[in-house]
Amino acid sequence: MGTIAHRETGATQPYDLLLKGGRVVDPRNRVDGRRDVAIRDGLVAAVAEALDPTDAVVVQDVSGTIVTPGMIDLHTHIYHAATSYGVEPDPIARRSAVTTMVDAGSAGAGNFAGFRSFVADRSQCRALAYINISYPGIFAFDRDLMFGEASVDGLLSVDRCVAVAEENRDIVVGVKVRLGGGTSGEIGLLALERALAAAGRLGLPLMTHIGRPPPSYEEILERLRPGDVLTHCFRPAPNAPVDGHGALLPAVAKARERGILFDIGHGMGAFGFASAEAALADGFAPDIISSDVHMMSVDGPAFDLLHTMSKMMTCGVALVDAVAMVTDAPARAMGRSDLGHLAPGAVADISLIDKVEANFPFVDVAGVRREGAYLLRPRGLVRAGVPVAPDPRPWESAYYRQTGQRT
Ligand SMILES: [Zn+2]
Repeated sequence: MGTIAHRETGATQPYDLLLKGGRVVDPRNRVDGRRDVAIRDGLVAAVAEALDPTDAVVVQDVSGTIVTPGMIDLHTHIYHAATSYGVEPDPIARRSAVTTMVDAGSAGAGNFAGFRSFVADRSQCRALAYINISYPGIFAFDRDLMFGEASVDGLLSVDRCVAVAEENRDIVVGVKVRLGGGTSGEIGLLALERALAAAGRLGLPLMTHIGRPPPSYEEILERLRPGDVLTHCFRPAPNAPVDGHGALLPAVAKARERGILFDIGHGMGAFGFASAEAALADGFAPDIISSDVHMMSVDGPAFDLLHTMSKMMTCGVALVDAVAMVTDAPARAMGRSDLGHLAPGAVADISLIDKVEANFPFVDVAGVRREGAYLLRPRGLVRAGVPVAPDPRPWESAYYRQTGQRT
């Protein structure tokens, strides 16, 4: 890993890179089995049970490793240094084998140009964004301070949001609004209305955060349109997806029937084992897994997408389903069906993951613990055909040191 496969002048091999012998899990193309993946000129060139290693300039043996379409973290905050809680995307992407990070509303119309110049244009990972309906984006948020960007009517300019999104169509995947608690204050449903108006004019989906009521889970869901995303879907009460007896809210099942998408968005305050386990027991799995990684969740309890996937698997989500929730499902949710799969011709964004046995103690946002049986570990990634080595995961190294297990 870490080597860059260059096509040598005069090279006769048809492939730049061959990933040999891995378990390819590509839900869009209904593949789950041993396959070789060949890459040429930054694109997937071939996926087959056996490809000839002499046909590739570089061969990487990935036997025993899970090979997936490049994973997409649909809810992150990567407007690094420009916002108080933004994290630098590339180290997080490398350590979690993620190839696409989608910022969820850190920037609004007033400062989206900075997101493009300082993040999207400079990152090794693909950086996309939901644009915040609020002009300054999420401008005042740390551990002890939160001024709701959606709580002031005068900041919620539909015209400005639409104009800036139009100028940045290549990286804007939708409109973001944060509803509930202090984020929208007294005007939650008005903020939602404005965000829906902007998304409607752009023909893009809306992603909405849900916090403490008001508004209620039901009030938000009934206003969303098919294809819109509710993030923080398994938050703890109040405004959990289940009632006090652990039964799924009828409004949740009804919204899924209408095509509303449910996203984890773990973060520092929005994932509870009680909500997740009760919803899953009622047959309700999320559509999308995302981390909501930012300054206050990056050192736990969310850490990153790979850790959040391991946590969902501890709740009973199967590996293949978890992979679909971070590849095919978020790609479709963004209207970017060019991403999230490995058919020949697709961009060669690829994640390499090892599933290892580990009794890791997972913790939710309320401090509730569950011991898992497995951890997903990054083996590396390929970004537009270029192999990238993984960064370390310090909290897992500490666990292995404490338990005396081999990493
Ligand atoms: Zn967030």
